Amino acid sequence: MTDRFGRTIDYLRISVTDRCNLRCIYCMKEEQQSFLPKEELLTLAEWTRLCEGAALAGIRKIRITGGEPLMREDVVELVEAISHIPGIERVVMTSNGVHLAPLAEKLKKAGLSGVNVSIDSLDAKQYCRLTRRDVLADALEGLKACGRAGLPVKVNCVPVAGENETELLHLAELAKAYPIEVRFIEMMPIGEGSAFPPVENETVRKRLEAVYGKFVRTEQDDREGPAVYYTNAHFKGRIGFISPVSRSFCQSCNRIRVTAEGKLKLCLHHPVDRDLRELVRGGAEPEEIQEVLRERILQKPRDGHTTDESRPMWKIGG
Ligand code: SAM
Ligand code: SF4
Repeated sequence: MTDRFGRTIDYLRISVTDRCNLRCIYCMKEEQQSFLPKEELLTLAEWTRLCEGAALAGIRKIRITGGEPLMREDVVELVEAISHIPGIERVVMTSNGVHLAPLAEKLKKAGLSGVNVSIDSLDAKQYCRLTRRDVLADALEGLKACGRAGLPVKVNCVPVAGENETELLHLAELAKAYPIEVRFIEMMPIGEGSAFPPVENETVRKRLEAVYGKFVRTEQDDREGPAVYYTNAHFKGRIGFISPVSRSFCQSCNRIRVTAEGKLKLCLHHPVDRDLRELVRGGAEPEEIQEVLRERILQKPRDGHTTDESRPMWKIGG
């Protein structure tokens, strides 16, 4: 599937629920959110049909995200169904990891290729302040369980000015001790995130270099998306930087999204497009879904700098 700007679109991110067990200060408000009624979320069969259509249209990698995807009781079955779709080469997930420990092995067996675990601090009190939940130990158990299950993990951290800056070095040190990737993501001015000024990745890199010496940029693999990776002689793993604020990667964007209410999003920063839930619930077969995607992809905007998004990240699926 190629858009008007010659970009091959082969990566789909699906937000399978808008619910979450955490309340990260830059993502969700503490007070009761207006979550979608369950019947408005796509069912396992509906997500499967939608992804079958996407695979026919040329999607090869699917990321399951949310909200918190592990809040879905059928998440293992969902991974299994999607990973069996012909054409889908990789099914991956983004999770806060809190419910991961008992599921890691099952998810791996179901066909999950890897999981990005979001942990913004290794200090229990700071983690609790940032997520408003005292569950760092559970998230760390989730990471260990992935190690035991042979499920590759990446750790994602959003630096929050004046909040977890003191812990960034400790998080980076996970990549010193283990052959994993620790990635820093600049705060995006979306939803609650608008209240926090981004800590530029350049600042984080300089702080790391002040302690560990030079970090050398590794060759970019097209499949790595917007992350830029660095190695250091003292580190077993790599440090990645995702810089939506200070750097533009729109020209190589290969992704589309479907929100928790089943709306197609051609760009993170643009309003929703076609209602795919309506299409699927109306009985559309994968071939028809494919045709709709191929037609809508021509509307994918050149970049994300011309309009903005008013929906919070937990509704879009970060
Ligand atoms: N609940 C899962 C998690 O936290 O990994 C998946 C959904 S969450 C919305 C996905 C990612 O988006 C997380 O790594 C989170 O830190 C990030 N995120 C949320 N709001 C953000 C913002 N305003 N700017 C940058 N990243 C954000
Ligand atoms: Fe939940 Fe993820 Fe948002 Fe935190 S960032 S509140 S874990 S959806």
